[in-house]
Amino acid sequence: MPAPTGVGTEELRRANLRAILQTVHTHGPTTRAVLTKQLGLNRSTIGALTGELQSLGLVTEQTAVVGGRGRPSHLVVPSEGNVVVAVDVGVDRIAVALVGLGGEVLDRRTRGHQRGEHDVAHVVESVAQMIEETLAQSRHHRCLGVGVAVPGAVRAADGLVRFAPNLGWVEEPFTAMLAARLDRPVATANDANLGVLAEHIRGAAMGYSEVAYLSASVGIGGGFLIDGRPLTGARGYAGEVGHMQVDSHGMICRCGSVGCWEMKVGENVLLMRAGRLSGGGPTAVAEVIAAAQSGEARAAEAVDHVADWCGVGIRAIVNLFNPEVVVLGGCLAQVWRAAETRVNIAIQRGQLISPRNETLIRSAQLGDDSPLIGAAELAFGPVLDHPQAVPQAV
Ligand SMILES: [Zn+2]
Repeated sequence: MPAPTGVGTEELRRANLRAILQTVHTHGPTTRAVLTKQLGLNRSTIGALTGELQSLGLVTEQTAVVGGRGRPSHLVVPSEGNVVVAVDVGVDRIAVALVGLGGEVLDRRTRGHQRGEHDVAHVVESVAQMIEETLAQSRHHRCLGVGVAVPGAVRAADGLVRFAPNLGWVEEPFTAMLAARLDRPVATANDANLGVLAEHIRGAAMGYSEVAYLSASVGIGGGFLIDGRPLTGARGYAGEVGHMQVDSHGMICRCGSVGCWEMKVGENVLLMRAGRLSGGGPTAVAEVIAAAQSGEARAAEAVDHVADWCGVGIRAIVNLFNPEVVVLGGCLAQVWRAAETRVNIAIQRGQLISPRNETLIRSAQLGDDSPLIGAAELAFGPVLDHPQAVPQAV
């Protein structure tokens, strides 16, 4: 690949360091020979670049005989000492993971919210304690950042949570509060926007550039890749598919509108329709689906009802975005697996503009961890973008 004209040597060097680090982070250990070919550089330049990443403590090199023949090649491996903390603030629980450069989850813990603990100060304190516990287990690691997924609209500029109806948050400076409590930088983004990122890098949307990720728990989140890039909107609030109106005669939503999609589809909608108590999460949803499959009429009616409305929402999204792949997470994935035919009938009601057989629909490969893994990628972002700026202190 010839050097683009007008690009300074230092800028080019940074771009090459970035390309190498992103390759080993995303695809795992990679030989210098493959990197040489991929970047179109000569072997001594690649050697100098991997040497610099090694001195920054980001990669190590191992000698390996690749393919069992020929001379040994240097294998460039993400250095084990680098981690980030990923956090997923759900409506029912908080999950915190320690994730290594290269994407391996090294430690994962969850804690339910106490009753009434959606108060932002309580959530900040719970998250901070869990992060401190996690980091205390990993003293020999260098923490490169903290990334957080929240189920709400997050202002891209400063992580202010503008609106998270299922947490009851409006204009909450959650990110600034957590950063002050931890005395470290924190990056926060919408959970579905992180979910689509994770599924694209490591899951069901690998290799696709037009992706819709739809995930339901209590509410529904939507994250989109358009031409391989995240759809953010003007301020970062795009993709609020849960509040798309699907029934003008429907119930009043937490957002104040009427008949939003998440009032038709979601864990609690399914549970209450099946005559169960709300709040049981994915386990209770699985129980209703099992009851439906073993012939319980009320459970079966609830699954059918939710499956029909899943199809109504997916149909609108397929028509709007013409995605190559729709990745379903949470309750949407559970209902899809249980009632695929019924969901498909609702998607194909009337003429679908982009033919159904040209749109893949899949369950999230990372399961309920997509937003958590996406939060780790968010935290790795600054180092992957500018490896030379990696903090040297823990
Ligand atoms: Zn709404």
